[in-house]
Amino acid sequence: MFSKKKKMTKSHSIVVKVTRWYAVHVAIIFLLMFIAAFVVSGKWASYTSRITLAHDTVEQAADLNDFESVDDGTYFAIYGKDKKLERGTLPEGFKENAPISENTVSKISSDGINYYYFDTYNADKQKWVRGIHSVRQISYELKLFLISLAILAPISLIIMALGGIRILNKGFLPIKDVARMAEDITESRDYTKRIDTSYKNSYDETARLAKVFNSMVSSVQANFEKEKQFNQNVSHELRTPLSVIMAESEFGAKYADDLESAKDSLEIIYSQAKLMRDMTEQILELSKIEQFGWSDLERLSLSEIVSEYCREHERKWAESGFKFETKIDSNIWINGHKLMLIRALDNLVSNAIKFSKSEIAIRLKQVDGAAVLTVSDDGIGISSDHLAKIWDRFYQVDKSRNKEVNSGLGLGLSFVREIAELHRAEFKIVSKEGDGTEFCLIFTLC
Ligand code: ADP
Repeated sequence: MFSKKKKMTKSHSIVVKVTRWYAVHVAIIFLLMFIAAFVVSGKWASYTSRITLAHDTVEQAADLNDFESVDDGTYFAIYGKDKKLERGTLPEGFKENAPISENTVSKISSDGINYYYFDTYNADKQKWVRGIHSVRQISYELKLFLISLAILAPISLIIMALGGIRILNKGFLPIKDVARMAEDITESRDYTKRIDTSYKNSYDETARLAKVFNSMVSSVQANFEKEKQFNQNVSHELRTPLSVIMAESEFGAKYADDLESAKDSLEIIYSQAKLMRDMTEQILELSKIEQFGWSDLERLSLSEIVSEYCREHERKWAESGFKFETKIDSNIWINGHKLMLIRALDNLVSNAIKFSKSEIAIRLKQVDGAAVLTVSDDGIGISSDHLAKIWDRFYQVDKSRNKEVNSGLGLGLSFVREIAELHRAEFKIVSKEGDGTEFCLIFTLC
């Protein structure tokens, strides 16, 4: 419970952390923009107002007949050659005798107010014309811009943060589901549970994670079921010889009154113990194959392996009375494990010998960039109900019938399947009851 809470808080904190990270950075950017706009606009305002002041004063001086003492916030005054004020209006508190400086914008402070003023001669150079206006930090438009920025920046920051939290929360939803489901499955050990992956408007990357998680749980469930089935089969298969051993030893101990009947019991006990030994050896071997991986394979000639196998068994086959046909294309190379391949081939050929009527064929050919190895017989065949299960461990078609010809344990084809999977080969079976069976392994060429 505690760890659940902790994990939830953690994933939540990622959302908050990411949002906070971006929000703080965007806020800093907004703030810098605001400061920059404020500084630049102040400077720009002062620059333009000085230019405007000089321009308007020169205009006034050009024609004193049209002289206006106040125009659009700027005061104008006319001074005589003796620098005495003759006409015009000065802003309140502005010093009348502020020094004249020709064609230069000067700054002066009067009663706590800063003014720019500009002096220039009139056309016949008999009068001075002075323009004055207060130092305006920023224009109205710039003021509006800065106010808008100051209001809109926090609003857009809030929208951005909320949007970010929403997007991240939605994006993290499949991750939260994966964590929740993993905990759920661990606690309940119920491998049938799945995440509902019908996310609306979710993001591919994380939604894919949930789908991958589901398929991973499916394969865990399949393996779990397989192992469970295998364990049940092993215990079932071992229980039969064990109970025979117990019954026989009890019988021997209680009722065998001569050596002959004691020997009978011991022989039965021996054969059942041998069966158990064979079974455990085969089970061990199966688990050994499972430990092999693709990296344990090497480039080898399948043609040579199959040819060599056939050569070695020719004499034995001739004695069996079956007609053997072998057709092996040369120069077929695959990535493989020699002993495993011989093991698979031997299992298929042994089965063919067990169930064939008269003919057995072993073929290896190259078809469409693949190596196709087939072992076929004209034997009793397998009905379609059994075909899918034939590869399962301990599976035997009609055990009672098999036992007459088949002393196997139902593990041979499991070996073949494991070996095929190790080689990433396809395994197929085509069979018709009464007509015969063809097993086929398809390897990728190397
Ligand atoms: P076993 O070790 O008992 O032979 P396998 O896994 O090799 O076990 O085979 C499983 C069962 O499949 C066999 O018991 C048999 O019933 C059936 N089978 C396998 N190969 C053939 C075949 N060539 N023809 C008919 N039945 C077969």
